[in-house]
Amino acid sequence: MIYLDANATTPLGAPARDAMTAAMAQFFGNPSSLHGRGQAGRAQLEHARQTVLAAVGGAGGKIVLTSGATEANALAWHGVLADRRQRHAVRVVTSAVEHPSIGALAAQLRTSGVEVIAVPVDAQGRLDMRAYAAALAEPTTLVSIMAVQNELGGIYPLAELARLAHQAGAVFHTDATQAPGRIPLNFHGMGVDLASLSAHKAGGPAGVGALWLRKGQRVTPLVAGHQEDGLRGGTENLLGIIGMAAAFAGLSQQLSGMAQVRVLRDRLWRGLVAAAGPLTRNGDVAPEDETGHVLNVAWPGVDGARLVRSLDLEDVCVSSGAACASGTQEPSHVLLACGHAPAEARAGLRFSLSAATTPAEIDEVIALMPRVLARGRRPAS
Ligand code: PMP
Repeated sequence: MIYLDANATTPLGAPARDAMTAAMAQFFGNPSSLHGRGQAGRAQLEHARQTVLAAVGGAGGKIVLTSGATEANALAWHGVLADRRQRHAVRVVTSAVEHPSIGALAAQLRTSGVEVIAVPVDAQGRLDMRAYAAALAEPTTLVSIMAVQNELGGIYPLAELARLAHQAGAVFHTDATQAPGRIPLNFHGMGVDLASLSAHKAGGPAGVGALWLRKGQRVTPLVAGHQEDGLRGGTENLLGIIGMAAAFAGLSQQLSGMAQVRVLRDRLWRGLVAAAGPLTRNGDVAPEDETGHVLNVAWPGVDGARLVRSLDLEDVCVSSGAACASGTQEPSHVLLACGHAPAEARAGLRFSLSAATTPAEIDEVIALMPRVLARGRRPAS
């Protein structure tokens, strides 16, 4: 199997697997219990929290552990807005290329009458900074812009975006799900107020994540309860949290492998151009503006979802659009936002590499692509 779908989820890495396996036998206590077993669990929980906090440059801030980035996004949005709404009218500025979990929050809030502005992007997925500044000209409560685009790999300028948001009096949230291990993170230094994280894009298990909060940043909880300092009720997913911390402890090592990942990603692009052209590239920006682990391409007139299935027959795992929207056969909302027609947006195919990707795997994918394309081009029977 050749797995080139790291943005959908990464396989469980050895550090997380080993830590979780060991913890499974040892730490069954409820961290809220007063006895030794419970307190052993509590100690693990707090240790894990500190590990995650340090790994994201979150000094002085707070980590609220959640079921993943989707919940962290919801806690950030609803939590900030509920806190403000008691006193003021609220307004949100976000981008047109956020993950569907943010898109769903925007839709939900619009239904209840909240103004949510989606800032457009250019043809390669870069945020339109003039439109961003214009959106902030009106009183804004919350700004939410992702750190790394999940379909394209583009990096958004968080420090600058946060500075402008603060100038306008808004709180700045980022969905940083795709960032850990791919770009250096220093939420505190970047001026971010809230950041959503997930374990399963960085070698941790799915079903666990966190919301980082700057010191003093208030949120109203979505789930009431005494756990997580009153910000997220429910008995903690200790095993998952231990797995997340073990994965995040290795983020700087993951980061140091990114230069090699970029070499392989570029080899894939050049190889596909030579062996299976003509094709176009989406999210084609300067190297410093993208992570280097994503290649999003399109063969004109060939449906991306068909290519995913065709590659699957060759035991190669990739995505068309975001995994969460796959299966719906809807064109990618990200490629539509880049100005592509629906048919072009359906043609997008995303390869997302990881440190586990080998040159031999890349060469094999390049070699089998002409055959896969021929199958993808045949009329559907
Ligand atoms: N945001 C982004 C940018 C993502 O890529 C994903 C995962 N596809 C999520 C949020 C949702 O994360 P989780 O699966 O932890 O809920």
